[in-house]
Amino acid sequence: MQVIHIGNPILRKIAEPIENFDAELSSFVEELTKTMYEEDGVGLAAPQVAVSKRLFVFDDGSGPRVMINPEILEKSIEQISMEEGCLSVPGIYADITRPAWVKIRYQDVEGQIHEELFEGYSGRIVQHEYDHLEGILFIDYLSPAKKALLRPKLNNIMKGKVSK
Ligand SMILES: [Zn+2]
Repeated sequence: MQVIHIGNPILRKIAEPIENFDAELSSFVEELTKTMYEEDGVGLAAPQVAVSKRLFVFDDGSGPRVMINPEILEKSIEQISMEEGCLSVPGIYADITRPAWVKIRYQDVEGQIHEELFEGYSGRIVQHEYDHLEGILFIDYLSPAKKALLRPKLNNIMKGKVSK
C-alpha cells in the first residue's frame, strides 16, 4: 500500500461509510495496519492509502486497533496542545490544540458497535485520524502566519519532493 501526500484530492474528500463487514474488509484492515507499522506511524486512515472509506487503524502503545464508521459523540470543553505529524504531510510537525478527550462510537471489523472515551495521547490520535475521514489535515488548524512559514515545505511535498 502506498501512502498518498497532501496535494492528492482524495485526502480532501468526505469518506464513504463501510457497509460490508466481510473477509475483504478484514484483509484491508490487516494491510492498512501493516502499512502503518512499516511507515512508523501511530495511526493511518483509509483515505491516506487512496481508499475513501470511513475507517482508520492506530496504535497508542497498547497494540493495533481499528475503528470503522466512527462518530464523535462528545468532546471535552478543556483543550490541550500536543505536537502532531502526519504520514501524508511528511517532515512537518506542529503543536495543535484540540479537546482533551472525546467519546467515540465506532464499529469493529465484525460490525459490532462500541462506545469508548479516549483521552491524552490516544484521544489525540483518534481525533487526528477521524479528521482524515472528513477531508481535514492537521495543518488546517495552523494560524495563517504559521502556515505561511511552512508554505515552501508544503509546496515541496506537493511537488513530490519529500524530505523526511
Ligand atoms: Zn494524518
